[in-house]
Amino acid sequence: MKFTIQEFKQKFPTSDSCLDYLWKMHFADKPCTACGLYDGFHKLPNRPAYQCQCGCQLYPLAGTPFHKSTTDLRTWFLAIFFMTNTRSGMSALQFQRISGVTYKTAWRIFKQVRLMMAYDNTQLNTDVEVDEAYMHPNPQKRSSAKPHNSQVLFGMVERGGRARIKHVKSSGTRVLVPEIQKNIDQNATIYSDEYGSYRLLKKRGYLHETVNHGKQQYVVGWVHTQNVENFWSQFKRGIYGVYRHCDPIYLQHYANEYAFRYSNRKSDTPMFELILGKLLSSPIPQTK
Ligand SMILES: [Zn+2]
Repeated sequence: MKFTIQEFKQKFPTSDSCLDYLWKMHFADKPCTACGLYDGFHKLPNRPAYQCQCGCQLYPLAGTPFHKSTTDLRTWFLAIFFMTNTRSGMSALQFQRISGVTYKTAWRIFKQVRLMMAYDNTQLNTDVEVDEAYMHPNPQKRSSAKPHNSQVLFGMVERGGRARIKHVKSSGTRVLVPEIQKNIDQNATIYSDEYGSYRLLKKRGYLHETVNHGKQQYVVGWVHTQNVENFWSQFKRGIYGVYRHCDPIYLQHYANEYAFRYSNRKSDTPMFELILGKLLSSPIPQTK
């Protein structure tokens, strides 16, 4: 569902309006844990806190990356807005220009928002396409042969559903099969090409269908890997276009960002709301 920048500006003119939004989303309908009273709270001036009539204080940002951040809450909200409402994301440099924060701050905020985007750890199910992709360390020269230090990404994409992307050490069986067992339900059907690393899947109890790309056999009825291939082309276009280069250390973060947008593309709840909704129910690891 679409959420426009005009709507954002109207809904969140100030940091206090952002705080109020989180308050309403997570706490307003619950009783005070100290005295049991509903509707007893009011906002304290000059502090990101609410106080009950009994004197008990509640800090809605506690436990979130926003707590004790020197960046104001509205800037965080704006970053989450852009990360969830642009097709290929946004670079820290672009956000620096739009928001007025320093490049370093923009970069740190985006890194944290990408961590927020990785909250879904439940297994993929039903029909899942898998495929590996190789990221060239130097995109400007990516038309040349695949260099030995290419980074390997492993993609698992549910048909009509979610994507899970992992930055892995290699594309060997011993790396890919455990990823599949961890991320894909045992009762799912897995679709892949005939790459050797997937040969063990039937032995591991999965239904496994393969398509032979070598024989120009790309689509055989239901047996294809077009969804995961489409994901890769969108991902590579985005990474090479928006970010220009991608440090291997942060490749998993970018993968999380793209997988999140893909997974929630059909959600009735705006992605912006999904992230803020999850924030307080499942603590997000914080980085410096
Ligand atoms: Zn109370």
